Amino acid sequence: TRTQDEEDLPHATKKTMADHLRKYESLFTLTPQRMRMIVEAFKDTLEAGLEKPKQTVPMIPTFVFGWPTGKETGDFLAVDLGGTNLRVCLVTLQGDGKFEITQSKYRLTEEQKQEDGQKLFDFCAECLKTFITTNLEEGTVKEGELLPLGFTFSYPCEQDKIDHGRLIRWTKGFGAPNTEGHDVADMFRASLKKHNVPAELTALINDTTGTLIASAYVNPATKIAVIFGTGCNAAYMERVGDIPKIKNLGIDDQADMAINCEWGAFDSFEHEHLPRTKYDQIIDEKSNKPGEQAFEKLISGRYLGEILRLVICELIDEGVLFLGQETYKIEIPYALDTAFLSLMESDPTEELLMIIGIFTHFFALETTLAERQFFRALAKHVGRRAARLSACGIAAIVSKMGYLEEGCAVGADGSLYNKYPGFADRVHEGLQDIFGDKGRNIVTYHAEDGSGVGSAIIAGMTKIRKEKGLY
Ligand code: BGC
Ligand code: MG
Repeated sequence: TRTQDEEDLPHATKKTMADHLRKYESLFTLTPQRMRMIVEAFKDTLEAGLEKPKQTVPMIPTFVFGWPTGKETGDFLAVDLGGTNLRVCLVTLQGDGKFEITQSKYRLTEEQKQEDGQKLFDFCAECLKTFITTNLEEGTVKEGELLPLGFTFSYPCEQDKIDHGRLIRWTKGFGAPNTEGHDVADMFRASLKKHNVPAELTALINDTTGTLIASAYVNPATKIAVIFGTGCNAAYMERVGDIPKIKNLGIDDQADMAINCEWGAFDSFEHEHLPRTKYDQIIDEKSNKPGEQAFEKLISGRYLGEILRLVICELIDEGVLFLGQETYKIEIPYALDTAFLSLMESDPTEELLMIIGIFTHFFALETTLAERQFFRALAKHVGRRAARLSACGIAAIVSKMGYLEEGCAVGADGSLYNKYPGFADRVHEGLQDIFGDKGRNIVTYHAEDGSGVGSAIIAGMTKIRKEKGLY
């Protein structure tokens, strides 16, 4: 194959790829100065979201009050409707900061994301019912009793109670009709009732909020939680007195409430602040939500593979790559998963054998070493830009809240954070580029499972507040 006789390759091939790489490198590179400008604009956006309702970055008050004490106890169910999977969990909180968890995962089909919303919630209810029947020992749920359930619904929902929320908009490619603008907690309740599931939805939770609470449960230095997965978002704790838009609700000014930022929407529609390339614009225009989730589209796992694929397609069109080969397989939108970028970056072999495998096995394409080195370098630039933009978001919260001097821990979760090689290091590098040496005070770490355990803890906190008559 062409991979064996690299020596015989026309010199131009190596040189051509290197020339192209320089061009893309400059497109995807973020200077420290540019990052600091983004942080400033980001901070203003966060403030605006706290100030007034219905802002692009909605800074959603979650009605999760303060940190967990570790004294929350009991059995709780959690249903986690994320971007890729549905997960059902039973969490037993033991009251000493410890817990046990049993869970099942179900893959969501593309169809389920697009068909009627009530059908999607029916599916969640059916899975939960099966889970309860197979996993709960007889007697766990007493006759006529309902188990408390935390529903982790990882999409922007406007809340005015802990157990209700109106879906503002679908993200991450979901488009199920008859759901936007509706109370998704009530929709899920209807499905639970219809399927006779012995569970009572007591808390509606965003995955970031769950992650914030679960992380603080095990690491009290945690002040911020971030998700870098199929989508991208952050949550942190705010003083109620500093959330002007809810001043009229009569909540104690001194109370703490978790804020679900929904920062994936930063710079949506106006596109004033973020460095978008032509590939980013194509992704946006072809998405089911043009204009929306502008920040998320540059960062999250749903899109990084697609960015790289679009560059490859451009070079195919220009006659630079794969001349004389059948390229239709790689020309299918979203054919190049972000997991491939992770593999490309982590290939330890000199010949880049894993990259050979990806291209032959999935796309029936032969590659030269020069091309493979190019793909790997390109993946690095795309992945690095995502991490540095993520650092900008974290820096905006840190700087707004004044966490830099004393430092803080940032609980992070999601496929990109957990599986993309070097992602966390690049975020930390980015924080130092923004803040200088003090950037070292901000440290991200792999968070506790927020969507399962966090959801249960919040359901537990809610139970305690209810018993005290606080809800
Ligand atoms: C959603 C957020 C969620 C994030 C991570 C975004 O698309 O809007 O609610 O927290 O993805 O799952
Ligand atoms: Mg998730």
